[in-house]
Amino acid sequence: MKSHQNISLAQFTSLSVGGYAEELILPDNYDELKILIENNPQANILGYGCNVLISDSGLPGTTIALRNGSITIDGTLVIADSGVWWDDMVQTVINNHLWGFELMSEVPSSVGGAVFGNIACYGQQVSDTLSWVEVFDRTDGKIYKLLKKDIDMSYRSSVFQQRPELVILRAAYDLSLEPKQELTYDSALAIGEELGLDHKTLADCRAIIIETRRRAGSIYHYDDPSVEHSAGSFFRNPLVSTDLATELAKFDESGKTLERIQHQSLVHGGDTHRASAAHVLLASGFKRGQSWGPVQLHDKHVLKIVTHEGATATQVYDVVQEIVTTVSDKLAIQLDPEVKFVGKF
Ligand SMILES: Cc1cc2nc3c(=O)[nH]c(=O)nc-3n(C[C@H](O)[C@H](O)[C@H](O)COP(=O)(O)OP(=O)(O)OC[C@H]3O[C@@H](n4cnc5c(N)ncnc54)[C@H](O)[C@@H]3O)c2cc1C
Repeated sequence: MKSHQNISLAQFTSLSVGGYAEELILPDNYDELKILIENNPQANILGYGCNVLISDSGLPGTTIALRNGSITIDGTLVIADSGVWWDDMVQTVINNHLWGFELMSEVPSSVGGAVFGNIACYGQQVSDTLSWVEVFDRTDGKIYKLLKKDIDMSYRSSVFQQRPELVILRAAYDLSLEPKQELTYDSALAIGEELGLDHKTLADCRAIIIETRRRAGSIYHYDDPSVEHSAGSFFRNPLVSTDLATELAKFDESGKTLERIQHQSLVHGGDTHRASAAHVLLASGFKRGQSWGPVQLHDKHVLKIVTHEGATATQVYDVVQEIVTTVSDKLAIQLDPEVKFVGKF
């Protein structure tokens, strides 16, 4: 395992901002993680830092970053340690001809972070296939196996967001020999057609998703220094009334019909009453590419906050506060950040 004292955490997050960790430890495997967490039950837990904003004042004490682990496949059951890079698992599963992750190809995440946030895209989510999760409970130092029914998963949410005493050690998924969800997302289908790929085969479906994500600026890899710095969509899609959802859909700039927008709300958020947070920002007067010094709204995706050289976590936090306040004042909608604020703000 690797251990660092007083090291900048910015390099361990996709937003590339934030202060120093007093101590940062990266276990190499499941056994090391188990011993580490038993000896440091109060440690801060990070995966690949793709959904956190870490304070400029940094994190005192020990921080454990879960960035290693192994994958085993037994028939259709896949078990992965929480530090496994999500897409390594997706690729392995596809190599084994199993369906269930293909639409979530290249979501930047650890296996643990994916369960914590119930990641989702293009109509597939972790809770569709999750079977059980093994956790370390910091309150009694014991290890438990939680079944999906105990994990309370919903749109971008799981029980772990309310129970920080539980550290996810590994997760098991029950996948399928047959496709369970079909790709129905317009832009991805169009890309598939353009590239002559068949979304009904596993390898082509993965290739279509990766290309769609690439064109949407949604690719991030932790060891690629050339990547854009964001945390993906910063806000959850809010639940609103039918009338307001219809009104907000008018801010769509892609030329889609109301019916297709509602379909995509369903695919993204599981509910036609969940308006696109991007439409909410546009309706509140925010613009794609708008910037506050080195902090910017993505020029294609207004919902992504991007940082440039010299940005600080405080600057990102201030932009988030401005967005939340403006949206509340103008539309009476309470926007909920998907990104976790870690440390003092
Ligand atoms: C470019 C980009 C595109 C994205 N696209 C998508 C997308 O399409 N769909 C989607 O759903 N998300 C997307 N995201 C968000 C991100 O991929 C997910 O939130 C991801 O699950 C974060 O995983 P992580 O390992 O980086 O977690 P981190 O950011 O390191 O941690 C996030 C939270 O999870 C907790 N946590 C992490 N691991 C554990 C564990 N083992 N036990 C307990 N708690 C833990 C942390 O304490 C923290 O509170 C995107 C992000 C980026 C940067």
